[in-house]
Amino acid sequence: MQKTQWPDSLWRSTAEPLRDCPELHEDIETDLLIIGAGYTGLSTALHAAEAIEQIVILDQSQPGWGCSGRNGGQVHCQWKPDLAVLKQLYPGSQFDAFIKTLGDAVELVFDLVEQHQIECQAQRTGSIIAGKGGKAVRYLTEWSEFWAETGADVRLLDKHVSTELIGTAHYDRSMFDRRGGSVQPLAYCRGLARACHEQGVTIHGNSRAVKVSQNGNSWQVFTDHGSVKCKRLVLATNGYTDDLWPGLAQTIVPVASMLTATSPLPESVASTLLPHRQPVGEYAGVPAYYRVDEANRLVFGWRGTVSGEIGSLNTAHLRSKAVRLFPQIVGTEWEYDWAGYVGITSHQRPMLLRLADNVYAGLGYNGRGVPMATMMGKQLALSLAGRVPTISPESLRAIPLHSFRHIGVSARIMSGHLRDCLN
Ligand SMILES: Cc1cc2nc3c(=O)[nH]c(=O)nc-3n(C[C@H](O)[C@H](O)[C@H](O)COP(=O)(O)OP(=O)(O)OC[C@H]3O[C@@H](n4cnc5c(N)ncnc54)[C@H](O)[C@@H]3O)c2cc1C
Repeated sequence: MQKTQWPDSLWRSTAEPLRDCPELHEDIETDLLIIGAGYTGLSTALHAAEAIEQIVILDQSQPGWGCSGRNGGQVHCQWKPDLAVLKQLYPGSQFDAFIKTLGDAVELVFDLVEQHQIECQAQRTGSIIAGKGGKAVRYLTEWSEFWAETGADVRLLDKHVSTELIGTAHYDRSMFDRRGGSVQPLAYCRGLARACHEQGVTIHGNSRAVKVSQNGNSWQVFTDHGSVKCKRLVLATNGYTDDLWPGLAQTIVPVASMLTATSPLPESVASTLLPHRQPVGEYAGVPAYYRVDEANRLVFGWRGTVSGEIGSLNTAHLRSKAVRLFPQIVGTEWEYDWAGYVGITSHQRPMLLRLADNVYAGLGYNGRGVPMATMMGKQLALSLAGRVPTISPESLRAIPLHSFRHIGVSARIMSGHLRDCLN
């Protein structure tokens, strides 16, 4: 997988800076070591700090360098598969538990923001899933009826209302979910890092974990300039998982997603586009996702290259798609481009993996990690405390034919495009 520099994203330009976390330069011991300072790692530390005194986090860069500082900042309750598929993935009572987890995960994000006074432009405007064509209409109808039966404030909107709410006549239906919203993703991540500092958690940046070895009941993780001995270990590396733990990288497929953002739109244009500022995710073969930020910028996300890699950060295909949807922005200057790797699982479930005694990993949020990675942290903390998490622990299982994943990703993107063209 291709590694990139930390891109000069809109989020980096507008988030409050966080003091650099120092590199590890010695051999230390701790009770819990977490590798990865994104939402998963930081939320694990924050929740585990209630019961565990000594916690250290290592990141190869700085908090938020990975997806947690690059994403669209959309906070949806909606999981992507069809209802029937999700019921197969979570048979029996597991389905009800997962549905509850989806709602709880969104609540958890906004609760943490409030509890730790995180300045991250958090907006609870509700969120929208929009679609075009018969398949999308069926999906949105089924899910909105289902959510309404659970008592959630979710409504199916017809074409007319969808057009007014989103500012484009492209979609046939949309589903409005009052529970969702958005955050400035890097600011949210840095806020979690600050909260960790306040709980006494030590974060070492620029400290890539390169080797793990077992010493009896404990573990030792080495960086280039130091090491950490620990009783408990969590890997929270998601789409940036390397070969540190044998087989872990083969449990997910990192797929590039790109974002581009306009300069602030003039009020006359901005008021025609998502006037209530909900984030939108498409239900489509190759779904786009977008929203308008506090400064009236359109922030627009879509796939990276057809191979699933980031490539040269050429976002021309995103921009032309955005203009097709919103002709009113034609001629607007585009100010930022950036990208990151989403961690996709073959079964579309997020995974809490038990790797060995007192060693866990949490990953595979399939593009819904703002709430789900935050929730995974809480679930990992429960597992570390010997309690029963609502996301059931699984054993590590490599995706069959993982080394051919690029072919699979390309085929998926091409067939998705075909489906969208036929709609
Ligand atoms: C472009 C894009 C848009 C997205 N949009 C949305 C969205 O709008 N809404 C949503 O809900 N989700 C979205 N997602 C998904 C979401 O961002 C992720 O699911 C979530 O951030 C995952 O958090 P994490 O902490 O598990 O991983 P990350 O934030 O990726 O953190 C992993 C960390 O591990 C570190 N690491 C890796 N290997 C090592 C090592 N060997 N040693 C030390 N450190 C290491 C990395 O440096 C990194 O900081 C998007 C993702 C992308 C890429």
